Amino acid sequence: MARRRRMPFKACKKCKALVEHEVEKCPLCSSTLFSDDWEGMVIILTVNSQSASVLKAVKPWRYAIKVR
Ligand SMILES: [Zn+2]
Repeated sequence: MARRRRMPFKACKKCKALVEHEVEKCPLCSSTLFSDDWEGMVIILTVNSQSASVLKAVKPWRYAIKVR
């Protein structure tokens, strides 16, 4: 996977949710700490799925797999 200099999203450091750069507060956990250094995107459609439990996702959303 080619890495671009600027990711289209930033990741919440607390819950790994991916949001647009304009967003100031995480819509999922209200955190204001974000990171541009993240890897992999997974879209959770149902919180009962196995990937949702691995990510501890509480809401259908797009999440980063790894956030530094
Ligand atoms: Zn969050």
